[in-house]
Amino acid sequence: MTKQKKSFFEMNVDELKEVCTSLELPRYIADQLLDWVYKKHQIKLEKMKNISKKNQAVLAENIDFSLFKNVQSDVSSEENAIKNSCLLDDGNFLECVVLKEKNYNTLCVSSQCGCPVDCKFCLTGVVGFKRQLSAGEIVRQVVYSFSINQPITNIVFMGMGEPLLNAKQVFKAIDMLTHPKLYDLSKRNITVSTSGFIQGIEYLMKNDRVVNLAFSVGSADPIKRERLMPVEKRNPIVKFAKVLKQYQLQHNRKLTLEYTLLDGVNDTDYDIKVLVNLAKYLNAKINLINLNPHKKIPFKPVSIDKLHAIQAIIKKQKCAVTIRYKKGQDITAACGQLGESYLK
Ligand code: SF4
Repeated sequence: MTKQKKSFFEMNVDELKEVCTSLELPRYIADQLLDWVYKKHQIKLEKMKNISKKNQAVLAENIDFSLFKNVQSDVSSEENAIKNSCLLDDGNFLECVVLKEKNYNTLCVSSQCGCPVDCKFCLTGVVGFKRQLSAGEIVRQVVYSFSINQPITNIVFMGMGEPLLNAKQVFKAIDMLTHPKLYDLSKRNITVSTSGFIQGIEYLMKNDRVVNLAFSVGSADPIKRERLMPVEKRNPIVKFAKVLKQYQLQHNRKLTLEYTLLDGVNDTDYDIKVLVNLAKYLNAKINLINLNPHKKIPFKPVSIDKLHAIQAIIKKQKCAVTIRYKKGQDITAACGQLGESYLK
C-alpha cells in the first residue's frame, strides 16, 4: 500500500514544524521550506540547495509538494485576465482567475467546487455543489499563480462557491496567506464575498474575524430577491442587513454591495432606489456588474447607456458607485461565469 503523504500546502507554520519534528528533522527545516516555497517561489525539493540530500529524501517520502493534477490556462484577448482551470486529485475542478492591473494582480479564488447557493444569474449555481475546498487547495491557487510568474497582492473570494459556507477552511487559508513567513499579504487586500448568510456573519463576529466584505445583493427587494437568490428564503435581506450593520459597527471595514444588472428584472427606478437605501443604511459602496451572458443563464445584460444612466442616478443620491469592468468575458472568466470545466 502506498503511503498517504501530507500536502505541504495544507499546513500552517505550527503544523509544519510539528511534522518536521515527528520526522526527526531539525526544526529549522520548516523555516527553510517556507522560505523556498513562499518567498523564493520554488516548490521543487531538489532545487532547495540548503537542505541536505538526506533530508530532501525524508521530505519527499512524507510530504507532497504538488499543486494540481493538471491545469488549463486561458488568457483573455486583451491579456488582462488568465483563467486557470485546475484538475484536483479526485477528478473535481476548481477555477481561479488572475486579474491584471497596471501595478498589481488580483486573484479571484474559489472556496468550493461548484456552489450550492443557486443564484439564478450565476453559472457556478447552474453547476451545483460538488464539494468543499480545503485550506490547502485555496492556498495552492495562489501558489500556482506565483509559479506562472503572476505574483499576487490582492485576493477576492469571488470564484466558485460561497466562502461563508466553508468559513473554517477559508479563514485558515487567509491566516496562512497573511502570515509573515508565507506571503505576508495585507488583510486589507483580501475581500470575502457572500450571497448573504446570516450565520456566516455571526461566525465572523463570534470568532473576531476582521475582513473586507462584498455582499452580492441580486435585488434589494425581498420578493424579487427570493426569485433570483433562493438564499433569501432563510436569510431575509432585512435581517441580514441588520447583522451586517452590527458587524460593520464593530470593525469598520470596507463593504461593497455587488449588484448584477439583469435587463428588465432589477433595473427599474424602484430597484435602484431600494438598492441606494440599502447602501446608505450600510455605509457601503455599490459596484455595478453588468451580467456576463451565457447560454445557460436565462437573463440579458442591460445596455451600456442604461448602465451609465443607473450609475448617474446612484451618484446623484451621493452614494459611492463603480462599474466593474468585464475582464475575461471571452474566456468565461468574468464574474458569474466560472464552472465551465464541469460543463464540457
Ligand atoms: S453568485 Fe456566488 S453564491 Fe451565488 S451561485 Fe454563484 S458562486 Fe454561488
